[in-house]
Amino acid sequence: SPGTSGPTGGQKGGAGGKGGKAAGGPRVITLMPGDGIGPEISMAVIKILEAAKAPLIFEPVDVTPVINSKGMNSVPEQVIESMNRTKVGLKGPLMTPVGTGFRSLNLTLRQLFNLYANIRPCRSLPGVETVYGDVDIVTIRENTEGEYSGIEHTLVNGVVQSIKLITRNASLRVAEYTFQYALAMKRKKVTAVAESNVMRMSDGLFLRCVREMAAKYKSKMDQAGIKYEESTMTTVCLNIVQDPKRYDMLVLPNLYGDIISDTCAGLIGGLGLTPSGNVGTNGAIFESVHGTAPDIAGKDLANPTALLLSSVMMLHYIGLHEHADKIEKAVLKTIRDDNIRTMDLGGKAKCSEYTDALIKNL
Ligand code: NAD
Repeated sequence: SPGTSGPTGGQKGGAGGKGGKAAGGPRVITLMPGDGIGPEISMAVIKILEAAKAPLIFEPVDVTPVINSKGMNSVPEQVIESMNRTKVGLKGPLMTPVGTGFRSLNLTLRQLFNLYANIRPCRSLPGVETVYGDVDIVTIRENTEGEYSGIEHTLVNGVVQSIKLITRNASLRVAEYTFQYALAMKRKKVTAVAESNVMRMSDGLFLRCVREMAAKYKSKMDQAGIKYEESTMTTVCLNIVQDPKRYDMLVLPNLYGDIISDTCAGLIGGLGLTPSGNVGTNGAIFESVHGTAPDIAGKDLANPTALLLSSVMMLHYIGLHEHADKIEKAVLKTIRDDNIRTMDLGGKAKCSEYTDALIKNL
């Protein structure tokens, strides 16, 4: 069960009880610090988790790509071994190498651990001025296929083909996760989004699967007063920037979900604030939505809040709700009451200054 929501939309409950825990002892978490600003924000988050006395042991692993036996780049064996054991990872952003012959490591991780649902709660933080005020939208995106399945080839010189892969199994399981989340989190409405009039077969299949799951959960959803509707991607794009309050939860295929969740991030004040969880059958990885921010890397300017709120989602997932709530309150107090903000939120605080101020508020 996905559980209930904290003030910034963190995820409680979940299947986090399995793996990586010495009896009665601290929980072991695989830490992938990542590239660019990844190491700085990971260190800030660990400092805060330690100050909050969260009973965690971080097992750092290097995700620098290795070339596997098929000549493709892949994640190092150490990462796979650690994740298989701990079942829960906290991850900084990874640089995606540009050019042919490289696969996205993020994609590889999602596929390796079958992390089929990407959950991105976007909720306005009180005190961060935005155009619309209290936006609260959760996007759940299919995380393993669609246009991001990584199947691309050259047909003839000057003609390339990318496969958009949609399967019934993956669509049904992300749809089921969405309705379970909506019920557990006491949400108000689920909107299924696809371009099924144009991409009749692929988006058509996705939409039919969500509809099928909506029918399965109809009585529970009716009882809980949660509505279900369907819309096209183009309509959602228009509406979400004119009146984001008309949406509550969106379930989308992979690429659409990526685009809309970044749009939602913009509505609540930027990528520096947006957490995410990748949840699947073989474990879960929590990470910020933003990338490696090469323009500010190594300058102590990054905002660690998105990764910190991702760790809050992780704490809920493994059942450490009190620690999660404590950290979330400290984030609100630091940004709203003390007005200590990093540059991306219009403030002057360095990453380290913001981190120290937040620790004082724990
Ligand atoms: P980006 O998210 O790294 O940066 C976009 C803009 O937002 C930049 O101006 C950056 O300075 C700012 N920004 C991002 N995070 C911030 C933070 N925490 N605090 C303050 N400002 C922040 O996007 P990009 O430049 O398009 O991508 C850079 C690299 O990151 C690429 O290689 C891309 O593939 C990769 N990427 C990785 C992930 C991931 O690992 N999950 C996600 C997105 C992008």
